Amino acid sequence: MPSLHPALAESEPWRRARGLAEGGLFPQCAALCAPSEQQNALGLAMARLLLCESGRGEDGCPSCAAWAGDEHPDLLKAGSEGAAPNIAQCRDLILSMAYRPVAASRRVALVYSADTLLLPAANSLLKLAEEPPGHGILLFLLSDEALLLPTLRSRSWMLPFRIAVDEGEERPPETESEWAEWLSRHSAAELPDLLAQFGPWIRYELHRNAFERAGTIDRLRVILETKRLSRTMALDLTVLALKEGIVFEHLFGNLW
Ligand SMILES: [Zn+2]
Repeated sequence: MPSLHPALAESEPWRRARGLAEGGLFPQCAALCAPSEQQNALGLAMARLLLCESGRGEDGCPSCAAWAGDEHPDLLKAGSEGAAPNIAQCRDLILSMAYRPVAASRRVALVYSADTLLLPAANSLLKLAEEPPGHGILLFLLSDEALLLPTLRSRSWMLPFRIAVDEGEERPPETESEWAEWLSRHSAAELPDLLAQFGPWIRYELHRNAFERAGTIDRLRVILETKRLSRTMALDLTVLALKEGIVFEHLFGNLW
């Protein structure tokens, strides 16, 4: 089960979504906008709440007990993280949605990468989005809400997972001189101090909808946390990844 990034799990949109799920008031058609790396985790976390009898999730109710890893008899998926479903997969989803729930009181359908749906596939979902069966909840997962077909957007409750940024919050260096200044300021910094900066940087990038970049910083944070790099290597890797835009997973792939 992929876990929801803490910045999303603690966000105001997530609190609202949880409140609506617990009150049984979650809309039948919604679009969850989040960084692409978080789409799967977010969709599954939302499904756990919506399929639960109490709406709280993981409470041991018969429906919660029916989960096997990331699968549930009343959870339907179309497409995958980074790949929108084609029209045949959309039609399968529509058919499966019509069946009565098996373990829960409703069925939840996840449509991945909905912002990259081709027009025929998107059009095939219009009727389902407009009039889902009484037991059905349709969740579009996407990164860029502006790219969702307007006819789907108008039928969906939009829930953008933007993270609030405080005034004066730290942001990553951008220009050459900012990077030079940052490096000289952190040349003697210990790894935990370096890592402490990444949280505010991720929030800053999410706030300005730079989801890819937020994902890069997050992956970098995980690597620095787990790989026990020296301070110098950590600084070098940060500059390579965030300033030079090197794909750092490939860079050290053979060593790790
Ligand atoms: Zn439950």
